[in-house]
Amino acid sequence: MGRGDRSNWCTAAFGRLKAWAVEGGLDLVRFFEGLWPEVFEVARMEMEGLARRREDAAERFNEQERRDDGRRVAGSLTDGLDLLRDLLYERVQRDVEKIVGRDSMLAPLSEKKSEPLAKTEIDVFQVAESAAAVVEHAYVGVDVQWYVEWLAALRLGERRSEAKVAERLGQYVSATDDQRRLAFSDVLAWAVPESRRAPLVLFRLLPLSVRIATALAFGDRGGAAEARARQAGFLPGIGDCERCRGVLLENGEQCVVCGNPMWKFDWLESAD
Ligand SMILES: [Zn+2]
Repeated sequence: MGRGDRSNWCTAAFGRLKAWAVEGGLDLVRFFEGLWPEVFEVARMEMEGLARRREDAAERFNEQERRDDGRRVAGSLTDGLDLLRDLLYERVQRDVEKIVGRDSMLAPLSEKKSEPLAKTEIDVFQVAESAAAVVEHAYVGVDVQWYVEWLAALRLGERRSEAKVAERLGQYVSATDDQRRLAFSDVLAWAVPESRRAPLVLFRLLPLSVRIATALAFGDRGGAAEARARQAGFLPGIGDCERCRGVLLENGEQCVVCGNPMWKFDWLESAD
């Protein structure tokens, strides 16, 4: 089920639930609040926080760049980078366990601890990689440090001020592409030990997928196509998918057959 399908399904299911609740004279919000007050509160605050971050980012972008499409740019980056982060975590954690198998020599952190840790680390890397693309293609008129701060605020919120996060981000931004890629795979192996057993090509594809998401958010299809061609150099089978043929998908969209823009294990293994 693609992201679009899933959200359509959710909208439909929620619509039916709402109709049923209205008919029965039930206030749905109060109903759920009553069922799981704590979970409800955390989810509500999280949703509000994310929405606020996106609004702030859109406004700051318009002011700084003297444009009026900040909301579209911030939204597109969010959709693209959210999907890449979640899929990468899926590949290096659950897919490794499921397909390669558990390694009894590893003493993994519990998944409850490792997931938020790993996802923060993935986002820190994505901010730096996106900034590298922005510099290379001059997507914004200001110095890169502004963009790094801006995207870090959008992706990480308050967490960007944590010493460890700020330090790592600084290191990534000043590193070369290769240094950044290698440093990130080490950091991820610390947060998710299973990731050491994921196909190496994954770490070649990720930075280019981040660059594609960035290019698409800034309307640069040529730059995105160039990065996709480089990905095909690492994983020649990309174009063989009978569903998507390896074409560029919009930010937030995913091919259910091959996994494009973060290919599934059997596709990744064809590169080795
Ligand atoms: Zn596909």
